[in-house]
Amino acid sequence: DQLISQIAAGEVVERPASIVKELMENSLDAGAGWINVDIEHGGLRRILVADDGRGIDRDELPLAVARHATSKIDSLDALEAVASLGFRGEALASIASVAQLTLTSRALEADRAYAVTPGEQQLQNDTIRPAALDRGTRVEVRELFARIPARRKFLRAPATEFSHIRKAFNQLALSRFDIGFVLRHDGTEVSRLAPADDLDAMQTRVEKLIGGAFGDHAVAVDEQAAGMRLSGWIATPGFSRGQADRQYSYVNHRPIRDKVFNHGVRLAYRDLLHNQRHPAYVLYLDVDPRQVDVNAHPAKAEVRFRESRLVHDFVFRSVGRALAAVEA
Ligand code: ADP
Ligand code: MG
Repeated sequence: DQLISQIAAGEVVERPASIVKELMENSLDAGAGWINVDIEHGGLRRILVADDGRGIDRDELPLAVARHATSKIDSLDALEAVASLGFRGEALASIASVAQLTLTSRALEADRAYAVTPGEQQLQNDTIRPAALDRGTRVEVRELFARIPARRKFLRAPATEFSHIRKAFNQLALSRFDIGFVLRHDGTEVSRLAPADDLDAMQTRVEKLIGGAFGDHAVAVDEQAAGMRLSGWIATPGFSRGQADRQYSYVNHRPIRDKVFNHGVRLAYRDLLHNQRHPAYVLYLDVDPRQVDVNAHPAKAEVRFRESRLVHDFVFRSVGRALAAVEA
């Protein structure tokens, strides 16, 4: 069973950044107003995510770290065959199977906080102990892959792992402007983002996170057609620093990665910029939810558009119009 949870964890826990993403998403789900992410040594030594959300009741703590699905799988082959079915409710359990995880939480109405540290073998015997925490939830992850050298081998240098963490952090920080975020690495504050309640404050957050990649200033986009809306910010035309990691796209405010979408943006830049193959952008596409299938993969942010040609052309034309307005 431990083998199975470790393999299952491979789907959710690729590297430190995937842990940060899962924990931050849990904080968002818990209605947090602030999320603090504290990283040591690229996440290899420690990942800490704390929030001020609704917390978890004492009696629910063991459940939160337990695997929900009862596994009927007895071989590696069979497991791989069903891997795409998803691992809902298994993020904390998966992380706990490949690292040392401590979950501390104080439910809204509770008079104190409690903590659990799920052990390797005996999940059911976890002792729930009183802990100190003012509010919300705090998840600490140490010794990632310490007991799985084959997986540890695939991790990169701390600086590289941290750049993946930063990307995951940015991606979620740009999905919810109403929430405050803090990111620290080895004791240094990397980002502090106050909740943003108007367009100026939102643009400030965007420029703070990826400003340098936009050129002089970010070009605002806001276009609507055929029941779709594209809004956000894109790089100034003529700005030609071709970083491939400054693209953020969202569908209905969910972070996505999509070739169709990305191609639409790049095509709009093609005739304007010769050497900028990777224009920076932060773009939000709002469409009828029935037009998208977001369940293509449980951990990866892939989507399928029902009418991908329509989406592609809408993105292409909208970005093109915003660029033309700047040129004029
Ligand atoms: P999932 O998010 O798919 O339910 P997880 O393993 O990520 O699965 O989390 C298990 C459960 O633990 C959640 O459903 C939630 O009830 C609880 N939980 C996890 N993180 C938090 C948090 N930061 N605040 C409140 N509850 C949390
Ligand atoms: Mg989760």
